[in-house]
Amino acid sequence: MLVTNPANGEVIAELADTTADELSASVERARAFQPIWADRPIAERIEAIRKFRAHLLYRYDELAAILTSETGKPISQARGEIDGVIPRLDYFVDHVEAVVDDEVARLDDGSGLEEVISHEPLGVVANISAWNYPYFVGANVFVPALLTGNAVLYKPSELASLTGQAIAEMLWGSGVPEEVFALVIGDGAVGAALVDQPIDGVFFTGSYPTGRAIATAAAGRMIPVQLELGGKDPVYVCDDVDIAAAAASLADGAFYNAGQSCCSVERIYVHRSIADAFVDSFLSAVDGLVVGDPTDDATSIGPLTRAAQIEVLEAQVADAVAKGATLRTGGGRVHGGGGAWFEPTVLTDVTHEMAVMRDESFGPIIGIQTVTDDTEALALMNDTAYGLTAGVYATDEPRATELLDRVSSGSVYWNCCDRVSPRLPWSGRGHSGIGSTLSRSGIRAFTRPKAWHLRHP
Ligand code: NAD
Repeated sequence: MLVTNPANGEVIAELADTTADELSASVERARAFQPIWADRPIAERIEAIRKFRAHLLYRYDELAAILTSETGKPISQARGEIDGVIPRLDYFVDHVEAVVDDEVARLDDGSGLEEVISHEPLGVVANISAWNYPYFVGANVFVPALLTGNAVLYKPSELASLTGQAIAEMLWGSGVPEEVFALVIGDGAVGAALVDQPIDGVFFTGSYPTGRAIATAAAGRMIPVQLELGGKDPVYVCDDVDIAAAAASLADGAFYNAGQSCCSVERIYVHRSIADAFVDSFLSAVDGLVVGDPTDDATSIGPLTRAAQIEVLEAQVADAVAKGATLRTGGGRVHGGGGAWFEPTVLTDVTHEMAVMRDESFGPIIGIQTVTDDTEALALMNDTAYGLTAGVYATDEPRATELLDRVSSGSVYWNCCDRVSPRLPWSGRGHSGIGSTLSRSGIRAFTRPKAWHLRHP
């Protein structure tokens, strides 16, 4: 497999794909070692993750540079991702013991009967990962999986394999045996072969079509399949907001990482009484974005990681304009340099007849639709097959929370967006997925309960 730099198209590395024989051997070794790993005191597994944390900080600049070289993520955002993974590791390490401790459900009240719940690891699990935040979406899975005593077969995205390789080296160097954390290199075909192995669970982050294919392939096997998928995340801007602050926050939420975040703002609805002022403010915030060399500290938008996405974005612009949208800025490729670049693009006069308001764009493009009132905004926000995040910008908290209460999505935001917290469950509804990572439920997901009915003689 060739690794290319999306900023200039140059090949930067060549990695050997994991073969079918290597894959089965890894699964067999993981099967043999997993019980030994699970039997170790939890303190040892926690210590391994603490050492992994130290490796991340020690290799910080090098790791950020690797991430930028293979994904085109601006270097400041690559550093930001490593900064952001540290509190996630801390959360898992601090909470895993309380989550997996045995629970006494019924004390012996003199009848001689006691009831206890224990939490056992699933066994050998597959972690199939996306490229857009490889540290975040990887660590959300492999860290709690390892801490709770599972063996992990980790397949990073083919577009972030150098980062995946570095993650594996750091875990091995931290005391996680290679048998317990196996690196699987390759594209979707290798991912499909991994799903076909005799494993005890699949934890996937990626697109809805791939998630659906994995759920179909695993159906009937009676193993947990957890899917963290895409979104078409809406935000409603009410008429009582600080317009400039909302516009600046939402421009960041739409264009951070070139819009390649699962929780990027993908649709904006704005109350008609402030629509013109909001769009003006939004356009001036977009004007301030710096498109350029991702290794430059000043850059806010780099190339698209996956060149093929450019065609999706071009088609969304053409479809929207043909159906009456107004292209306010951007709309096309940035030429030169050999990489895959797209201009930050803003469309107004959009409707739900247009693909840009229905299908995940996963790029630097946003549609802004004017609405007459809260009822229309709510109906449009819920008019989607996805359900990852949704937000309301408003000064009036009860108004915002009432709207958010009626939105169907896994996360809701008041006056913020594009945000993930280790303390809160990260989950999608509909085409955005099944199950949750992070929080206590994102640790519990890697265990299965055992119910103990104990009658004392
Ligand atoms: P993708 O679905 O193309 O690939 C994801 C992973 O699946 C890769 O490792 C790929 O090699 C593998 N894969 C592809 N086909 C497979 C198959 N048939 N069987 C098994 N594995 C297979 O997604 P991507 O382009 O890497 O990531 C972008 C998508 O991920 C977007 O839709 C984004 O919204 C979503 N995402 C979601 C979250 C979340 O937490 N909900 C986080 C990040 C990204």
